[in-house]
Parts: sequence; structure tokens; C-alpha cells
Amino acid sequence: MFILLNWVKYYTKETTKALKIISIGTMLILSVVFIKYKPAYAVTLAGQELGYVKNKEKLEVKIQNYIEDTSGNVAFREQLVAPEYKLKLVDKNKRFEEKQVQLAIEDSAITMYRIFAVTIDGNVQTTVSTEEQAKTMIDNMRAELDSNIELNAGIIEQYTMDYKIQSEEEAVQILNSIKMAKISEYNTAKEEKRKAEESKIISTKTITNVGTIAGINLARPINGTITSRYGARSRIRSSAHTGLDIATSTGTPITPIAAGTVTYADRKGSYGNLVIVSHGNGIESYYAHCSQIYVTVGQKVEKNTVISAVGSTGNSTGPHLHLEIRQNGTPLNPENYLY
Ligand SMILES: [Zn+2]
Repeated sequence: MFILLNWVKYYTKETTKALKIISIGTMLILSVVFIKYKPAYAVTLAGQELGYVKNKEKLEVKIQNYIEDTSGNVAFREQLVAPEYKLKLVDKNKRFEEKQVQLAIEDSAITMYRIFAVTIDGNVQTTVSTEEQAKTMIDNMRAELDSNIELNAGIIEQYTMDYKIQSEEEAVQILNSIKMAKISEYNTAKEEKRKAEESKIISTKTITNVGTIAGINLARPINGTITSRYGARSRIRSSAHTGLDIATSTGTPITPIAAGTVTYADRKGSYGNLVIVSHGNGIESYYAHCSQIYVTVGQKVEKNTVISAVGSTGNSTGPHLHLEIRQNGTPLNPENYLY
């Protein structure tokens, strides 16, 4: 028993001594280590070493703030690869690279910017930074356009990684040139329409007023041979003739008896191709059996406008113009006024 106790005592004593030596040794080693080295986080991103930082949490907060910062035109940011931190002992003299590491991580994040595109006729023409700017530009365009010119403009919100918008002056310039193009397009169309009106076939024959009806001076639509008089009856016509037939060659240009508005220009039963012109004061004139019609309903015609050409369409035995003059719907005898 005594021996055992003694042994324990001895052993404990020796153990304590050994432990003391070990701890002193360890402390010595540690102090040497901490004199020479300091702890630091080695930061790597996708396998690439970025540098060393002292405070990992502080860096993470900074990066989080950057990711969540959606000021200006930033729509959102996204960090696709997370940085890795490894605690290490580095040479005491080694400098930390906090800022460099922070910038490198921020740089690796994707930034999506919000911009506003102005579209004309569905095509993006320019991009600006705010919706208000886009609206103002479109409003300004509209204000300077003739109300007859339709402007199909729109605003599209876009997200882009590459924040490149035009300067306001550039954007205005682009829209301005589109506006000018619209105006010139409109004017060209207007001019073309005017020219088309003008290019109505004009007769070169001398228009001579022959008679007058209801205050309207009348001229002959064509010259030719009278082949059937007003009121006449014939083999092919059971009722009295409501007009005057003037025969001449197919294609001879027909001009109206007076200026007026075309109220009919189409096929009509036994009339064949028929043009009716209204001259006002209840006076109308009919031009039947035409081979060609050159005018359309609603068209204003002058005395020298070629409205149609002599033909033999409808109930006709040869090329001639069937001319009718009506007053309030009642046929009159053209020979009393014109031939
Ligand atoms: Zn006839």
C-alpha cells in the first residue's frame, strides 16, 4: 500500500513536472510563432488567390452592401461564385490586401442595369436612363408632328449588363431625325396623292361650251356621229331612248359635260361600263358603254378630265357613247343643249 502510494506520489510529481515543461515549451513556441506570424484569411475566388484579409466578417458585410446596392440604374446584382476563406498564419510583416480583395470580389459579381428604350414602329431607336426622360422625348416628338402623322412610339424597360446609354443630346438627335423622316414621308405621300390627282388624264381637245342648263355651261363629251336620238325606239330597245348615242372609235377619250363629282363608276347592266357625274343643281350626266373607266366615285372632275373611253360594253351593237343628261332624275334630250 505504502509503495503504491509512493509510486503514485512520485508519478504525479513527475507528471506535473513534465506537464509544466511541456506547457512552458508550448508557450515559448507559441510566442515565437506569434512574434513571427499572424493569423489571416487567404481569400480565393473560383480557385484564384485574391489576397489576404484580416477581418472576414467585415469584408463580407461590405460585399453584401455592394450586392444589395441598387442605386442609380442598377436593377440588381448577383454574385455567381462565392469567395472561399482559409484561416492561415502568415508572416507578421505581410500586408493585408483588404481593398484589393474587396474590389476583385465585387468585380466578379454581375450587375444588371435598368434602362428605357424608346421604340418607333416597334424598333428600338434610343435608350435613356429614366422612363420620364423617354416619355418627355416622345411627347416632344408628338408635339412637333402634324396631327395627321401617326407616331407609333413606345417605351420598353430593358435590363442590360452593359450600361451604355446615349447622351440626352444624342437621343434627341436620333428621335429628331426620325421625326423629320416621318414628316418627309408624310409630305411625299401627300405630294404623290396630289400628283396622282393631277395626273388624271387631261384631254388636250379644246373644250367649248355649247349650251347651258340650270346655270351650268355645258361642253360636248366627244364628237362623233349621232346614231340614235333621244326618245327613239329600236330593235334592241323596246322602251323610248333615254339618251343620245354618239358613235366614234373605241378608246376615244370622254370628258364630262361640266365639272362635277363622280357618283358612279362601274358596270351597270345594259349600260355596260357606266360613269355618272353629278354637277349640282340636280343635274347629272351618264356616260355608258365605256371600254375603260378612269375615275373613281367621289373624284372631282373638270371639263377637261378624261373620265372614260368610248366602247361597246353592255347592250350595244358597236362603239358609241350613250349620253344621258338628267335633271332631278328625269332624262332630258341632250341634243337640246349640246348637239
Ligand atoms: Zn343609247
